[in-house]
Amino acid sequence: MTVWDDLVGQDQAAERLAAAARDADAYVTAVERGERPELSGSSMTHAWLFTGPPGSGRPTAARAFAAALQCVSPDRALGGQPGCGFCDGCHTSLVGTHADVEIVRTDLLSIGVKETRELVRRAQLSPAGGRWQVIVLEDADRLTEGAGNVLLKAVEEPAPRTVWLLCAPSTEDVLPTIRSRCRQLSLRTPPVAAVADMLIRRDGVEPEAAHAAARATQGHVDRARRLATDERARARRLAVLRLPERVADVGAALRAAQELVDAAAEDAKQLAEELDGKETDELRAALGAADGKRLPRGTAGVMKDLEDRQKRRATRTQRDTLDLALTDLTAFYRDVLAHQLGFSGGLAGGESEESVRRVAGATRPEQTLRRMEAVLDCRRALDRNVAPLLAVEAMTMALR
Ligand SMILES: [Zn+2]
Repeated sequence: MTVWDDLVGQDQAAERLAAAARDADAYVTAVERGERPELSGSSMTHAWLFTGPPGSGRPTAARAFAAALQCVSPDRALGGQPGCGFCDGCHTSLVGTHADVEIVRTDLLSIGVKETRELVRRAQLSPAGGRWQVIVLEDADRLTEGAGNVLLKAVEEPAPRTVWLLCAPSTEDVLPTIRSRCRQLSLRTPPVAAVADMLIRRDGVEPEAAHAAARATQGHVDRARRLATDERARARRLAVLRLPERVADVGAALRAAQELVDAAAEDAKQLAEELDGKETDELRAALGAADGKRLPRGTAGVMKDLEDRQKRRATRTQRDTLDLALTDLTAFYRDVLAHQLGFSGGLAGGESEESVRRVAGATRPEQTLRRMEAVLDCRRALDRNVAPLLAVEAMTMALR
């Protein structure tokens, strides 16, 4: 087991990162010996942009690389590779407690100037005890333009032992000025077989269930894991896949819309119950107001900040859950279309195959295309912050 084992179906990317980690390790070792080595011309550099479709594991790859950069395994000196997965440097980086690895993940729809300034300030520091100061920005596509410009300066003139790892779906999602200063690493959608193998090997899922989940989610690692291990996720997906045959009339369409939106709200509520109380308690304790003691003067604003953030997270969870449902629906109609056009060899979702055949037989390809368009419209409306119920109702009405 090494840190690279978590990169499912990304052999090429893993090789490049391993080479960079080797050069990075040699560089730090030389610096510590008092030499003045150069990074230019090596496989290592100060700013990386990890791109790849959703589910390809951008954050996972960034974290594995961070761990390899912090690896302190004694084997390295004996010809081994950095990234053993076991030493203190690797382990704390992977679990997120390494003092020199900052992982920025946001529940917000954008990352602003203030937060970015704070990161840039941190990036100027030398590593506290590790080999590199690593800053992982998991949602670099959410930087506002102002924040991007703040970041640009830091990427242009990096501190000698600072590494920026930016993640975004594609290079177009990042300001061109930043993108041009980063080395790009593109991840691919992992093959279904690789995802299934990971579920079996790491999560102990039965082979048949693992293959079904990997096939249904078409190479989206996190979704496949959730589908294979979470009963609720499976139930929700089945409900979504039943939708096309349910929306026969107006009443049914409106009911289906309400249910879909309710399920997403329920998801957000469950996540809130798991996280909000704990966060609030921790913050109160940090402010010296644990066990219902009164908040110290002047700290109400901090508490309010946390509440606002929790509200925004709930909104985002609800949107994400709806988005998953829409992805499943799109896949369903794509299968219907394939069937209607006579390419039914590779039907994706095993459990919906009967339903796909029935819908395909009862409708025409033009209708299927219109329905796919309706799902896409709903997704666009949600992106524009249209009220979820309104957007979903318009969709289910169009699916009749
Ligand atoms: Zn290690």
